[in-house]
Amino acid sequence: MKCPYCSHEESKVLDSRPVDDSASIRRRRECEKCSRRFTTYERMDHAPVMVVKRDGRREPFLRDKILQGLVRAAGKRPVSMDELERIVTEVEREVLNRGEHEINTQQIGALVMDHLRHLDDVAYVRFASEHRRFRDLDTLVEEAGIVKERRRQEEALRAQVPLITVDANTKQTK
Ligand SMILES: [Zn+2]
Repeated sequence: MKCPYCSHEESKVLDSRPVDDSASIRRRRECEKCSRRFTTYERMDHAPVMVVKRDGRREPFLRDKILQGLVRAAGKRPVSMDELERIVTEVEREVLNRGEHEINTQQIGALVMDHLRHLDDVAYVRFASEHRRFRDLDTLVEEAGIVKERRRQEEALRAQVPLITVDANTKQTK
């Protein structure tokens, strides 16, 4: 980090602290040559996260896109821009903290809904219905899994029942 006054390369850090959402760090530094002080801001350098869309196309993760969806959902509701921004910041942090390079739109939708649910019912329902297509597919897959499991259990039970009945009958007839 070059000193802004004398361009010397070495400086010592006097103080470091995270800024607001912890995505950046503010450092107070002192030049080791001229001893003048200056402040630097370092933004965490995350690898870019790509969003996998329904049709398989990928696009960079953009917080503005999430905000647009939220603004649409919260239209005419008693929800402030600050509250929506806060959700976007939270979601962005969660997406980056996953440490993965890709996330699909369905997963982002679920993260947003988790926060929106606590903020405003109407906005939540509006947002959820816009993501209905993904949710339905999700539900379908989940349902299919449950039905399959139930059928497996029923079949296993059916296979056992005659044995138990026969056994019980034999015991009773004796
Ligand atoms: Zn200096």
